[in-house]
Amino acid sequence: MRKKVIAGNWKMNKVLTEAEQFADNVTDKLPNDDNVEAIVCAPFPFLPSLVEKTKGSRLQVGAQNMHFEDSGAFTGEVSPVMLKDLGVTYVVIGHSERREHFAETDQTVNKKVHAAFNHGLTPIVCVGESLEQREANQTMNHTEQQIKKGLEGLRHDQVADTIIAYEPIWAIGTGKTASSADANEVCAHIRNVVKEMTSGDIAEQVVIQYGGSVKPANIDELLTQSDIDGALVGGASLEAESFQQLVEAGT
Ligand code: PEP
Repeated sequence: MRKKVIAGNWKMNKVLTEAEQFADNVTDKLPNDDNVEAIVCAPFPFLPSLVEKTKGSRLQVGAQNMHFEDSGAFTGEVSPVMLKDLGVTYVVIGHSERREHFAETDQTVNKKVHAAFNHGLTPIVCVGESLEQREANQTMNHTEQQIKKGLEGLRHDQVADTIIAYEPIWAIGTGKTASSADANEVCAHIRNVVKEMTSGDIAEQVVIQYGGSVKPANIDELLTQSDIDGALVGGASLEAESFQQLVEAGT
């Protein structure tokens, strides 16, 4: 059975004291259940403190982006070596906001996914269609291309360890959630693409999250779907109580 993975994406929110307070409020309240993984993906300046505060707890810490090179003349960037050195375990790659505002492409996503594995970080790879693409019936083809290009060249065991987040862009931060059946249909398609790229066994192992206006009120129904193994959550992950409820839904 695949475990459920609930990951918060704080985006560019909070200051250090608020991040620390969140960790203090959440770490000892998360369910002690190996079938659910709780991750908080925070801005870079909070990562050292969050890693320290969550040590020995069930809360894992992730970054929201990284460069694909180990080091060098890339002013303003953060490398996988730096994240690993801090004790970070996950990294979000190719979030639609990075694709839209920071020129991320399937090619840079692919380089970053390889770099993450080369440094022992688990990538949470985001894919998903725009409203225009959905209305033009391109959802399946678009997500398929993003998966094929984003995961190109990975070993099968690395594909198995990748977390894929299906996030329809029109549902992110808008309050509009895909219906659980629609979300599941795309997640099942993604699993099928993974199967074609690797094998049935690997496809059964890979964790596929849904993301897009997930909150405590709608997560239960999403998680009952056959191919949805968790959620990547923006707005509703900012408050400790709401995040805790989302994680509890995964138990
Ligand atoms: C996200 O940031 O990936 C996201 C899905 O945001 P929200 O939950 O706010 O829609």
